[in-house]
Amino acid sequence: VIALLVPWRDEAEQKLRAMALTDALTGLPNRRCFEQRATGMLALARRQNLPLCAVMLDLDHFKHINDTHGHEGGDNALRLFAQVLQQCCRHGELPARVGGEEFCVLLSGDEDSAEQLDQRLRAQLPRRSQEALGFLIDFSAGVALLQPDDTGMEPLLARADAALYLAKAQGRGQLQHDSV
Ligand code: GH3
Ligand code: MG
Ligand code: MG
Repeated sequence: VIALLVPWRDEAEQKLRAMALTDALTGLPNRRCFEQRATGMLALARRQNLPLCAVMLDLDHFKHINDTHGHEGGDNALRLFAQVLQQCCRHGELPARVGGEEFCVLLSGDEDSAEQLDQRLRAQLPRRSQEALGFLIDFSAGVALLQPDDTGMEPLLARADAALYLAKAQGRGQLQHDSV
């Protein structure tokens, strides 16, 4: 009996662990997973002296989407956005859902690769959202590059957030860089 139960328990444990790291709505890594993996990517970037970027993305006028298409329509928009984002990410680009309609991509590369990711996403999103949802969705984004004196992820993410705020203020639907 024990020989039968042990593998079953191991499998259940693995499933639970995966669930704890996955966002249930979109299937993307959740904030906890993001924080764990970010620590590793940050250490690697430091050790190998390689660039690391954080891109914060926030859907535009999402309240309006919920108001117009209902909470279910909003959920579908989130799933679609997550799917397109995941498909646009390349090796070394880690996407996660970090809040309600906020996503973050940690990217082993410089700001050029972040801009390319933003462009790939903007090239796909209008057609994909129109096809899957019957309406358009758009997003604003902010990018920040890891600086030598950054003490950890917090300052990097704070600068990406500030850049996102700027993108919203500049009229949304665009990527902005931090001011460092
Ligand atoms: P902005 O362009 O400035 O970002 O405007 P916004 O309307 O997107 O503003 P904000 O970011 O404050 O709104 C987020 C909304 O997202 C509020 C909340 O009701 C909704 N939301 C958060 N999580 C979920 C979710 O899981 N599903 C749905 N359908 N809506 C969600
Ligand atoms: Mg929003
Ligand atoms: Mg938001």
